[in-house]
Amino acid sequence: MTHIRINVHSKTYPAVGQAGHHLAIANLNLSLNAGEFVCLVGPSGCGKTTLLNIIAGLDNDYEGDIIIGKQHTHPKIGYIFQNPRLLPWRTVRENIELTLDKNQSPAIIDPLLEVMQLTHAQNVYPERLSLGMSRKVSIIRGFAVEPDVLLMDEPFVSLDAPTARQVRELLLKLWQQRPHTVLFVTHDLREAIALADRLIFLSAAPMAVISEITVPIPRAERYHENAIETFRQQLLNDYPEIKQLL
Ligand code: ADP
Ligand code: MG
Repeated sequence: MTHIRINVHSKTYPAVGQAGHHLAIANLNLSLNAGEFVCLVGPSGCGKTTLLNIIAGLDNDYEGDIIIGKQHTHPKIGYIFQNPRLLPWRTVRENIELTLDKNQSPAIIDPLLEVMQLTHAQNVYPERLSLGMSRKVSIIRGFAVEPDVLLMDEPFVSLDAPTARQVRELLLKLWQQRPHTVLFVTHDLREAIALADRLIFLSAAPMAVISEITVPIPRAERYHENAIETFRQQLLNDYPEIKQLL
């Protein structure tokens, strides 16, 4: 488990269809403690995917620095994208094996398939999977690399509510068995409350932190819709500025 310090002075994109630049992120400072599950909540287009790409090292075109664990080491990052991005010509198991390092045994996949209830589907091709099943495969891929940090970009978008809930609960089960530092992006406040140790609310561009709130609900009670809903109402009352972000 690894702590993260995020410090983005600025991230700009060329403005689309006009001269100049679009300032996506300005003076953003965030820290995650080792083993913490943090949800980023912010409106569409505020720069959440941009930020994850920067943390993952996929985008180096920014001013600032990201420190993951000890400085000058190469952290391992697990990145669960919004779309599962499975190779259609590979089976479920092969898609997961492709992400492993050479020194990792393929046997580490078995318990992950079991927790995610996919052992029976490991030899099928992605076209035969439901959307919920392909999301589970991409979660397994994220955990399989045994990352220092796990990034998740709205991984449950467009699932129906009962499926999203089931996959969320399996994700928590996996995370409690194998604690990781997690940065999870969502614009669904109920989902964020169900998952996070801490919520970080982000403004529209240029992205900035509006508030940071620790979720006080004990882990054992996160499965109760009532506990989630009561806390959600309380948040919206206490922090009315959150409403415009959702
Ligand atoms: P979010 O994930 O919060 O919805 P994004 O990080 O995808 O937001 O995008 C943030 C802003 O940056 C948006 O205004 C988007 O249009 C812009 N943007 C994202 N990627 C590019 C790109 N490759 N070129 C130009 N603008 C981009
Ligand atoms: Mg996005």
